[in-house]
Amino acid sequence: MSGGKTDNGSSGATSGTGRLNPGDDAAPGTPGTGEDVCPQCQGKGRLGTSDCPTCGGTGIVIKGVAGG
Ligand SMILES: [Zn+2]
Repeated sequence: MSGGKTDNGSSGATSGTGRLNPGDDAAPGTPGTGEDVCPQCQGKGRLGTSDCPTCGGTGIVIKGVAGG
């Protein structure tokens, strides 16, 4: 390993077909990831009267589940 910076793809240019929500670790369908209930809205997709910004109103976020 070289370098000490870990970029997890959360800044700037994101090229791809899917649109990521702030709570997503990766695009849907990415190997090693899976859907999880949004911790922000508990899967409701809404916070109060607004859409949950973390999951984009879906109630689901994509989380990495792989160990490596
Ligand atoms: Zn949410």
